[in-house]
Amino acid sequence: PTTKTFHSLRPPIHLPQDDAPISVVDYALSIRSASYWPDSTAALIDSATGQRIPYSDLLKRHKSLSYYLQHVLKLSRHDVALVICPNCVQVPILYLSLLSIGVVVSPGNPLSTGSEIARLVELSGPTIAFATSSTAHKLPKLRLGTILVDSPEFESMMIRTTFDLDLDHGPQPSQSDVAAILYSSGTTGRIKGVMLTHRNLIGVVALCRSSAVAAGERASPPVLLYTVPLFHVFGFIYSLKSVALMETVVMMPRFGLDGMLKAVEEFGVTDVAMAPPVVVAMVKSGSSERYDLSSLKSLVVGAAPLGKDVIAAFKAKFPTVELAQGYGLTELTGPVSRVLGPEESKKWGSVGRLYGLLEAKIVDPETQEVLPPGKQGELWVKGPTTFKGYVGDPEGTIENMIINGWLRTGDLCYFDDQGFLYVVDRLKELIKYNGYQVAPAELEQLLQSHPGVADAAVIPYPDEEAGQLPFACVVRRPGCILDERSVMEFVAKHVAPYKKIRRVAFVNSIPKSPAGKILRKDLRKIVLALLLTT
Ligand code: AMP
Repeated sequence: PTTKTFHSLRPPIHLPQDDAPISVVDYALSIRSASYWPDSTAALIDSATGQRIPYSDLLKRHKSLSYYLQHVLKLSRHDVALVICPNCVQVPILYLSLLSIGVVVSPGNPLSTGSEIARLVELSGPTIAFATSSTAHKLPKLRLGTILVDSPEFESMMIRTTFDLDLDHGPQPSQSDVAAILYSSGTTGRIKGVMLTHRNLIGVVALCRSSAVAAGERASPPVLLYTVPLFHVFGFIYSLKSVALMETVVMMPRFGLDGMLKAVEEFGVTDVAMAPPVVVAMVKSGSSERYDLSSLKSLVVGAAPLGKDVIAAFKAKFPTVELAQGYGLTELTGPVSRVLGPEESKKWGSVGRLYGLLEAKIVDPETQEVLPPGKQGELWVKGPTTFKGYVGDPEGTIENMIINGWLRTGDLCYFDDQGFLYVVDRLKELIKYNGYQVAPAELEQLLQSHPGVADAAVIPYPDEEAGQLPFACVVRRPGCILDERSVMEFVAKHVAPYKKIRRVAFVNSIPKSPAGKILRKDLRKIVLALLLTT
């Protein structure tokens, strides 16, 4: 019933007609006129070298690169481009250029191992890859090869002035075209390719803009620092919305707390986008006293839960900085809710109110009953930012995940009677280590391939700094000698560092349903009891 549906309390947002042929890039550029910053405003700053790219130059580079990709490399609509790069100033320009010519952008974690990248290639079928000199060696051979974005050749692709840049771009992507494939394990199983359309991205750019408008115009262009990776939906979306809002983005190629604080002082950063572990580090470290952080207005924190005590400690230490939690997921093209402005940020622990364009309901996971404010259940969300599906949907997941247009988030949440959302727990299997996704199914498969392992399951273990640690429950094969260290070393050899198993417990059996599904809640209880007795 509609009475139990939560509608957004934010102002309504208008999107272009959904059959208008417009890419997210053209949309983002078309709404730029709503902002009045001059084109000399810096679009991108490299925090390591201090290189500044003003908006006027960004647009030239984007046009030149689009031309090169389309007419020299012959990339065309629906081709897939894999991007395996750490954060750097070239990446947002690359995203704009690929998206504007209808090439599907597929960014992966640059920390991935060669075999993990091979899996991404298998999923999304790219024809070309973009990497840096530090990541290129991990990429397989693709039809059009790999282009290094930190090479002089790439620089020249962006600054060729001999092209007639007003040439016809050919057919425009339509809004229903897939624009990007991001990677997520969703609510269950292994990593999958999440297809996001231009329409999805347009929706998100529009809702980010509406919240910037609601927050009020600034006296000078906002200066954002991204500590969030550009391959994750948080950074991916931010790189597009920053262009639409003409924000200055300070890009940090390698994250370190001191480097971040130094960059805030050096470039007058006003807003930082981060995952909770960075907030924890800011609270704990004594470094902040050494830098002038007076330009800092707000931190936007998302991708994982932020503890109430961390919020309290942060408020005490940085009373003038607004701490705004946001909540979202890849399958909803990122943002779902956020805290907006000083009044809302008094609601400690809330992830804010729903963005415009979205509706939500709280559903009892057992009975499917729709629940009123104050009651906890699974959050279901509906809106134009719901993803199109998983590539090939290897696990047939979509039928369970989207029901009558409602996307099941797999998160246990509740709304209060003022429309503020609270995330209580995760019903889905996903583990988040430092904000990065770790899919238990992937580690379980790997553990089961070890000759000394009879059975294994991986569950999250709470950790103050990282949020959660991947914790392995292992059943030893009879007669095999296997200790904690050898389990951890075995896994570490095969996976990216953030997926490492960081604790192990040996158990007699893994509790399973008659259908063979791991009963993770029961397992958590067994482990808890085991840890209490040892
Ligand atoms: P991802 O697709 O990597 O963005 O992961 C999405 C998941 O991260 C959500 O379904 C939540 O479980 C978790 N998450 C994201 N933001 C928050 C938040 N602010 N508080 C709690 N959990 C969050």
